[in-house]
Amino acid sequence: MADHRSEGVVAAVSDIPALDRLLNADAMRASLDTYGRTQVVAALRRDLDALRQRALAGSLMRHELDAAAVAARTAAALAKTAEPRLRAVYNLTGTVLHTNLGRALLPDAAVASVLRALTSPANLEFDLDTGGRGDRDDLIDDVLCELTGAEAATVVNNNAAAVLLMLNALADRREVVVSRGELVEIGGAFRIPDIMKRAGAKLVEVGTTNRTHAADYESAIGPRTAMLMKVHCSNYAVTGFTKSVGVSEVAALAHARGLPATVDLGSGTLVDLTQFGLPKEDTVRETIAAGADLVTFSGDKLLGGPQAGLLVGRADLIRKIKKNPLKRALRVGKLTLAALEPVLNLYRAPEFLAERLTTLRLLTRPQRDIQPLAERLRGTVAHALGANYAVQAVPMFSQIGSGALPVDQLPSFGLAVRYTGSGRPGRHLDKLETMLRRLPTPVIGRIGDDALWLDLRCLEARDEAAFAAQLAEPLT
Ligand SMILES: *Cc1c(COP(=O)(O)O)cnc(C)c1O
Repeated sequence: MADHRSEGVVAAVSDIPALDRLLNADAMRASLDTYGRTQVVAALRRDLDALRQRALAGSLMRHELDAAAVAARTAAALAKTAEPRLRAVYNLTGTVLHTNLGRALLPDAAVASVLRALTSPANLEFDLDTGGRGDRDDLIDDVLCELTGAEAATVVNNNAAAVLLMLNALADRREVVVSRGELVEIGGAFRIPDIMKRAGAKLVEVGTTNRTHAADYESAIGPRTAMLMKVHCSNYAVTGFTKSVGVSEVAALAHARGLPATVDLGSGTLVDLTQFGLPKEDTVRETIAAGADLVTFSGDKLLGGPQAGLLVGRADLIRKIKKNPLKRALRVGKLTLAALEPVLNLYRAPEFLAERLTTLRLLTRPQRDIQPLAERLRGTVAHALGANYAVQAVPMFSQIGSGALPVDQLPSFGLAVRYTGSGRPGRHLDKLETMLRRLPTPVIGRIGDDALWLDLRCLEARDEAAFAAQLAEPLT
């Protein structure tokens, strides 16, 4: 230290310039114009505090006190603060509807509609025919009824809210009969028994985990029963010695006792997916036709729209639900409705659905379309990762995700990255995964079987150039 001091390189506290002088320096102009005085002053204070600490420790260098150096540090700190926390990422996990990555991507028509709703007043609750007050549900209930065959429809914030609202409106302080095999937990805190309790309804479990019979439902019905409810086994499959009672049978049992039958369909697809080469999933229309009095489902799963919870079914039940005060608490905003309406409209032209509905386009993307992409990007990724990693273009399977069809897999193609250097591969793959997550547009893959898997199903042609560009320089 003494050496430095004698060379005059180390700075003392008294050498630190005053905040005002730095603030008025030319080098600070750009930050002031971008971030405003309030933020710049705060950032400068933090920088000067740190400089003071370092001066006291004897480790502060004179060149760090140049106005240009201070301005550069301040600008960097402010830029970091200004970075959005919600960022675009590349979803190469192989799960198309990835709950942690925001589920469905909206088609262009929905994006344009949201933009309009964001920037101009809209008839959210204003009847353009009469000039009187309107109901925001009117914007989408016709198309929902048309697409599902239901008499009436309403929409809330998400499907968990739809289930909560339905139970509270129709079964408060009464009993709801559900098969033990359907008491699902949908990740996080959504468990049917918990929602039931919060809704004020009493759960009556029938059958066993693997087998439930019609007689089980029948004997559970009593004077306090409000409804029979079925829940879609979204994220697991019960296989082997199993028996469940279908919607039509549960509905017949309920109707014979004057009770409604309700179904939480979870994903709730509006079209027969087998026409697109995807696995069979009961549609909302089929569920209604089978006798369900009320069906709830998500807007951002297979439907391919914004986060929302849709309730469709008998007009008298929907009326009751809409009168419940929770409906007001759980209602959707105009952005949701702006996004939902064009998505529902796309279903009126099923011929174009696989092309225009982003979710369906990704789910139906053929392996032969993904393979050349994997082969094109293999070299880029290999170059970016360096000699210690082997990158192969290989076939793999994608999943639909978000609880839809948990056991079905979609043939896809992507890159398998293996560590070939010395040391344990696991640690190096973890490090690589972290590096990819720290890219300007983070790349999210999946680690398994001593490899990092990058499924390219969700990397569409329009993303390819930007994806390759951020891997143009070696990462390691
Ligand atoms: C996904 C799902 C839910 C929760 O839906 P959100 O829209 O995420 O609130 C509820 N029930 C079932 C059966 C589901 O699959």
